[in-house]
Amino acid sequence: MTKKMSSRVKTLSPSTTLAITAKAKEMKESGIDVIGLGAGEPDYNTPDNILEAAYRSMIEGKTKYTPAGGLPALKDAIIHKLQKDQGLNYTRKEVMIGIGAKHVLYTLFQVMLDPGDEVIIPAPYWVSYPEQVKLAGGVPVHIEGSSAAQFKVTAEQIREAVTPRTKAIIINSPSNPTGMIYSREELVQIAEVCKEKDIWIVSDEIYEKLIYGEEQHISIAQLSDDAKQRTLIINGVSKSYSMTGWRIGYIAGNVEVVSAMTDLASHSTSNPTTTSQYATIEAYNGPQDTVETMRKDFESRLEQVYPQFVAIPGFKVLKPQGAFYLLPDVSEAAKNTGFANVDDFAAALLTKANVAVIPGSGFGSPDTIRLSYATSIDLLEEAIRRIRTFVEENW
Ligand code: PLP
Repeated sequence: MTKKMSSRVKTLSPSTTLAITAKAKEMKESGIDVIGLGAGEPDYNTPDNILEAAYRSMIEGKTKYTPAGGLPALKDAIIHKLQKDQGLNYTRKEVMIGIGAKHVLYTLFQVMLDPGDEVIIPAPYWVSYPEQVKLAGGVPVHIEGSSAAQFKVTAEQIREAVTPRTKAIIINSPSNPTGMIYSREELVQIAEVCKEKDIWIVSDEIYEKLIYGEEQHISIAQLSDDAKQRTLIINGVSKSYSMTGWRIGYIAGNVEVVSAMTDLASHSTSNPTTTSQYATIEAYNGPQDTVETMRKDFESRLEQVYPQFVAIPGFKVLKPQGAFYLLPDVSEAAKNTGFANVDDFAAALLTKANVAVIPGSGFGSPDTIRLSYATSIDLLEEAIRRIRTFVEENW
């Protein structure tokens, strides 16, 4: 075949998270006792009330197409949630439901970016942001949040990164992979710069419900009328309601952007799965106690395992404030166990210690590995024991 594929996909790399998870699964299926700390999903089943609502909707015959942008009743449930949780008011025309937050973001960049438009992406970042921006013809511009700054960027760094081609900045708080949360004061300053430079704010709030200690979720859209006008909130049910497989996410924001996204969906995906939409109505409108049960459980796992990770030689670990990831800097451990870089160290953890972790290089953070603590305490403690033994024996 001489006809090549599009230039668009030439630099496209597969999601490191999904690749390692697949490799670990393959090893497991061949009988190797691998512990996976790579997964980006809660280890709970979807709550029963949500499963029952989905089943009921199918039995009632609600199994056909819906409007491309989602069921009006689901839009209303999301509008109610945003009003109740964030005090933000949106209309149905300002909300679109899509196939997971990931595809909502993909669609957003497709309608937002012209070739050469820049999007500022603070590193460490979620793996898909730069790829999605590139697929839309855009240019990812990275600014770094150092570990000394809790992996967060400052308004000043953003100001310096803006050029006449800058279209947007992505804020992900709580963050995957760092677990850090921007404070109200930090967000106020960021919103000010975005106003001054007149750029969009893409606010990915998917981990909103998984927050620990005294911290609170604040959406940057809450901070002023101007911030609300320029913020596109991205959220969904994957992490908060343990619904990763149902594939429902949404955007709330500017009516023209949402309308263009809905038109694009009408030619690409049609509606998100009807049954999943009915399940999500129940997730938002039904009892919320399971969300809190899961949050508390993650928090107690974090409290138990955090000191154990800190105690591994050559691991420098900041305590996360949300989500379910740890992002230790393991450059010392890699160096002292004879590896040229952290990617090779992470590969050896999988093949020699049988623990799957995600190398931070895919997150723009090459000295780190990402560990998910969304797994049972017993498995976590065994994984820590294996990693520790591997490091100590090879030191
Ligand atoms: N945004 C971030 C920061 C994520 O970590 C994820 C999932 O890993 C998503 C978006 C996508 O979530 P969804 O399952 O709704 O597509």
